[in-house]
Formats: sequence, C-alpha cells, structure tokens
Amino acid sequence: MTDAPSPDLIKLIMELRGQGVTDARVLDALERVPRAAFVSEAQRSQAYENKPLPIGLGQTISQPFIVGLMTHALKLGERMKVLEIGTGSGYQAAVLAKLSLRVYTMERHRDLMREAELRFKKLGLSNIVTAHGDGYLGWPEQAPFDRIIVTAAAPELPDRLIDQLKIGGILVCPVGPAGATQVLLRVTKQDAGKEVENLGFVAFVPMLQGVARDG
Ligand code: SAH
Repeated sequence: MTDAPSPDLIKLIMELRGQGVTDARVLDALERVPRAAFVSEAQRSQAYENKPLPIGLGQTISQPFIVGLMTHALKLGERMKVLEIGTGSGYQAAVLAKLSLRVYTMERHRDLMREAELRFKKLGLSNIVTAHGDGYLGWPEQAPFDRIIVTAAAPELPDRLIDQLKIGGILVCPVGPAGATQVLLRVTKQDAGKEVENLGFVAFVPMLQGVARDG
C-alpha cells in the first residue's frame, strides 16, 4: 500500500493546510497514511472527508483536522518514544509512527485493538506496539515517554500519565465532561511542576475507566 495518495487525500491535505495545519512534516505524514484503510467498507467513500467517522462499539476515528492539530501540538522528534491512549482505528497511531521512533498504543476494547493491529501489519507499520488495557494506568513498564497523546476526553488531567513523562516531555489531552465541550490541553512537564496551555475547544468520546467488558 505505498501507492500514490488518492486525489481525495490530496484535496483533504489542502483543506487542512487552509485550516492552519501548516507543519510540512505533519502534512507529509498525513499524506502517507491512507485513512481509507482505517475505516470499514461502509465508510470508505467518506474516508477523505474532514470529519470523524464511526468505527464500531460507539467509538469514532477522529476528524483529520484534529489529528493534524494534535500531532502538531506534540512537537515530535524522530527519536521519540510516544504513548497513545485510545488506539481506536489505529489511524492516529499510524500518523505518529511516521514521525517518531516507536509508538506504544493502548485500547480498552480488545476487538478494536485487534483490528488496528491487522491494519498496522498490512501497512508495514512495524514501530507500533499495542496493549489491551486501561489507559488511566498508562504503561509503566515502558515509561518514561517523550510524548503522550490521549485521544479520548478525560474528566481532568490524568496525573498518572504525567508521571510517566520525561522532564521536558509533552502530553496532549482533551479534558472535560462527556457529551459537552472539552478543551484540548498541552502539558509540558518541568523540573518542578508543569506548564499547561489551552489549544481550543474539541469534542471527543469519553475516556472510560477499566477495560471494556466485551474484551
Ligand atoms: N485514536 C483513535 C480515535 C480513538 S476514539 C483513532 O485514530 O481512530 C477513543 C478511543 O479511546 C476509543 O477506541 C475508546 O475505546 C478508547 N478509550 C477510552 N477510554 C480508554 C481507556 N481508559 N484506556 C484505553 N482506551 C480508552
């Protein structure tokens, strides 16, 4: 699947650039990940529209603009170790994998995780490691991380995840109640304390406690 990007994808990339996603490396990564491979057959015709799409079990693949915004906000470097909470379809993880050394991604629904694993394999994304588990606990065995991205809305900043960041590391996380407006926060961990920036309003599915019972 190393075909040239489809015209629909090129059009989407131009739209994202117009919306302010101007980082060339982020745009290049978005261009190199076929979003169509991360949605079901039924959604495929809409894969390159700039909107979230259902992926089953009440979850969604994020809007491409939001994926671009969050990826940019992380300020990734190619030697970095990244933790993602909320694998979902695997699309965001695939974009991160193009811009970093290794991506550790956690999902509480086993079925979604399995489907994402198959996609990573098909696309030859060998620098993504998956785990079925509760993202609130993070991945202590692999900590500390350079970057952490949470792709579900937490009711408040998840301190356990901040504990698993290196000093100078960045966490990007939507914070706020389910079904209401949330804010996208960027936390930069410092020697003592942390800097918190508000990157704007977003709408994510909630980050839930524990693994899903279907798993
Ligand atoms: N990053 C995904 C979008 C994910 S939607 C993509 O690119 O497609 C949010 C995901 O977070 C859902 O799949 C949901 O099951 C998962 N999730 C919610 N709470 C979680 C938790 N505590 N631990 C792990 N995953 C969680």
